[in-house]
Amino acid sequence: MFASMAIPVNDPEHGFCRDCLRLQSGPVRRCERCGSPRLARHAELYGLHLAHIDCDAFYAAVEKRDNPALRDKPVIIGGGKRGVVSTACYIARIQGVRSAMPMFKALEACPEAIVIKPDMEKYVRVGREVRAMMQALTPLVEPISIDEAFLDLAGTERLHGLPPALVLARFALQVEKEIGITVSTGLSYCKFLAKVASDFRKPRGFSIIGEVEAQEFLAEQPVTLIWGVGKAFAAVLERDGIRLIGQLQRMERNELMRRYGTMGDRLYHLARGEDDRRIHADRDTKSVSAETTFDMDLASADDLVPVLRSLSEKVAARLRKAGLAGRTVVLKLKSADFKIRTRNRQLGDPTRLADRIFSTGLDLLRREMDGTRYRLLGIGVSDISDDGKADPPDLVDVQARKRALAEGAIDALRDKFGGKAVETGYTFGKGHRGRPARPDEDEGPEVQHPWERI
Ligand SMILES: [Mg+2]
Repeated sequence: MFASMAIPVNDPEHGFCRDCLRLQSGPVRRCERCGSPRLARHAELYGLHLAHIDCDAFYAAVEKRDNPALRDKPVIIGGGKRGVVSTACYIARIQGVRSAMPMFKALEACPEAIVIKPDMEKYVRVGREVRAMMQALTPLVEPISIDEAFLDLAGTERLHGLPPALVLARFALQVEKEIGITVSTGLSYCKFLAKVASDFRKPRGFSIIGEVEAQEFLAEQPVTLIWGVGKAFAAVLERDGIRLIGQLQRMERNELMRRYGTMGDRLYHLARGEDDRRIHADRDTKSVSAETTFDMDLASADDLVPVLRSLSEKVAARLRKAGLAGRTVVLKLKSADFKIRTRNRQLGDPTRLADRIFSTGLDLLRREMDGTRYRLLGIGVSDISDDGKADPPDLVDVQARKRALAEGAIDALRDKFGGKAVETGYTFGKGHRGRPARPDEDEGPEVQHPWERI
């Protein structure tokens, strides 16, 4: 048993080889057994158990796996000449190709790139295989998207006979061997830094951020590293002269909250590497939702309905991306005096269609439009299941299938031209997008649980 080998937990020189998993002692530069330079070494190596695993250039990696002739070529997955890049392989990235870049620009940077249309069905299938392997490591797997998840390996040492760090390194090798793609792993003591770590050295990365170095590490990083600080909010901070996390570390919590509201609270804690959000296991996936907080309180249908429509579309897009569907539609409202109202309705069968989510939500919303002024509107679905049984062809409603096809097409167009490219009658030209929501807050929760206040 590994546990009986008496690992010196706080020995910063102790580590293991990521290629053959042999334990190393002393400040060696290469594995004593296989000569690999890929050594994992950290003072807290055997004490950390929270991980974020992210597949490297996932779509492109799957295509390369399935067509070895592509292996040494720059490959871009995306929607044709006028579309945008959804994934670029690392060879294309070296030449400057990035995700979300317009395809014509990508091809300017890398004219010899091979462009492949995304095969989402295949990627979802492979993503599920990787996830199943994760679930063999721990029941606490929280998927973030098709190709990444958080894992909590606390208490699994007895099961595996290995500490989490080694289990994760072995997992990475196993994915390479059994699935034929690579992953990057971040290991830390909290979700925020596990995610940061996995991004740190891709591809085939294995990065560790321990408690001892968290503050110092963060101090040097740009504020955009913090979850929830997108472009818009980074611009707000920039205007206030704040660019580095270290500047946030020197500010008082009260001051940050006075300036940026609840976001200030988040900034305060995350800047210090304080994040006590827990892992929510896949089987506990309760809902997929989106919500937005208004800058001014709203009461009228004219104001609220377009917001509901655009949030419904966001929820539907997330469901489709995650291969999920929900049977109960949940409307959430927060009134000007901070009272929360939630209203549910169960459907006959699960849905992943914006139209059904919206029309059910609208029905619920109409009953709540009684003059009350609202500061927040959210819509989501619960009773989550695989999307296998979602939106069956409906004999009563012959339009349903057409709508399903139309929404698939809208997704494709949005992938190509960006979220604003396609507007439906309800949102077109409406003030919602012009109305400033609080910074980045309208991103709302991704799949699963909303951001828990820390
Ligand atoms: Mg990835």
